[in-house]
Amino acid sequence: MQYRTYGKNGFKVSLLGLGCMRLPRVFSPGDSQAQVDKEKAIELIQYAADHGINYFDTAYGYHNTTSESVVGEALEGARRDKVKIVTKQPFAVMKTQADIRRNLENTLKKLRTDHLDVYLIHNIQKPYWEEIKKRKIIEEYEKFRSEGLIRAIGYSYHGGLPIFKDILSFYSWDMCQIQQNLIDVDHEATEAGIKLAGDKGIALVIMEPLRGGSLAAPPEGIKAIYDEFPVKRSAVEWAFKHVINYPQVSTILSGMTTLEQLKENIEIFSKPDAAAGSLSDGEKKILARVKAKYESMASVPCTACEYCLPCSQGVRIPDVFARYNDGVMFGTFEPARRQYYFLTKSKQDVSLCITCGECAEKCPQHIEIPRRLAAAHEALKGWVE
Ligand code: SF4
Ligand code: SF4
Repeated sequence: MQYRTYGKNGFKVSLLGLGCMRLPRVFSPGDSQAQVDKEKAIELIQYAADHGINYFDTAYGYHNTTSESVVGEALEGARRDKVKIVTKQPFAVMKTQADIRRNLENTLKKLRTDHLDVYLIHNIQKPYWEEIKKRKIIEEYEKFRSEGLIRAIGYSYHGGLPIFKDILSFYSWDMCQIQQNLIDVDHEATEAGIKLAGDKGIALVIMEPLRGGSLAAPPEGIKAIYDEFPVKRSAVEWAFKHVINYPQVSTILSGMTTLEQLKENIEIFSKPDAAAGSLSDGEKKILARVKAKYESMASVPCTACEYCLPCSQGVRIPDVFARYNDGVMFGTFEPARRQYYFLTKSKQDVSLCITCGECAEKCPQHIEIPRRLAAAHEALKGWVE
């Protein structure tokens, strides 16, 4: 396993981290929601901890708030001291300062530990970033750190570059977690955001390197591009190589569900060439062509500029289009539906749209937003967690 330094904190972390939002699940007939398959999930987490992975990322909300408990049970005992446990608190539970502390205490119990190595504000978004600043939520986290309950403070983020820059420069964060993959070079926080975080010495953690798993199963047209390269690799390895190449990245999270995926990924991240700056010009050209090919297959020409936001009803318009485009590009709506489910849960989905049309007036791409949203909703709804 390759290891990197965790920004200015100096932790030594495995370049591959286990994202615990896609633990194996079981769905029993009659259940309204799937449950984590605890036996398999614990086997997976313990195998990872015993084979070089020392970075475990979960969140209060994952698997209907059960992920933290499973991670805690799997890592309790001798493994705990060898790994970094990282979790996230959603803004929705931060009603009062007392709630913030209660939620952390509950999380520590579930994770069976007396401290978290890193504590994140989960998915900071433009509508409540001002609130986070005004209510001095980061100061609460600083109190936790001075009490030894947490070791580092960070945030995860899915929006565009301007707000990312604002968040980054507002506070001396220990880390930030953003989405990046071979398609998102110029989306969300973008490559420019990666460089900014690196310049500040902030540990950078990458999520969605396989874009919800979709990059693992490319259509024929994409496979043909990969096959032109003399060295043969799986689409998974190509996708990982894109993010491994950034020297600013400390850890790349992959939401692995099976032991087979875990073993394959450990092998990729243990190769000598799983190193920053290892991509040749020829490899970069292949990845750029793959990106362009995927983009040519997208259906809604949304650039995620966010000019249409905020929507008065809270609909996350660019996120909906990104999920919809994923479904079209990758030829399957399965992973996209799961991600859309999280928008539904946080009341940011299209069912809230009142077709006022205000967003469409602001869109530089002249997208007929309400109509396209309605179609996207039809394709994306219906996931059962
Ligand atoms: S049309 Fe729908 S998505 Fe657009 S601003 Fe109005 S409510 Fe929001
Ligand atoms: S304004 Fe248009 S292009 Fe920009 S995020 Fe909204 S829908 Fe996408």
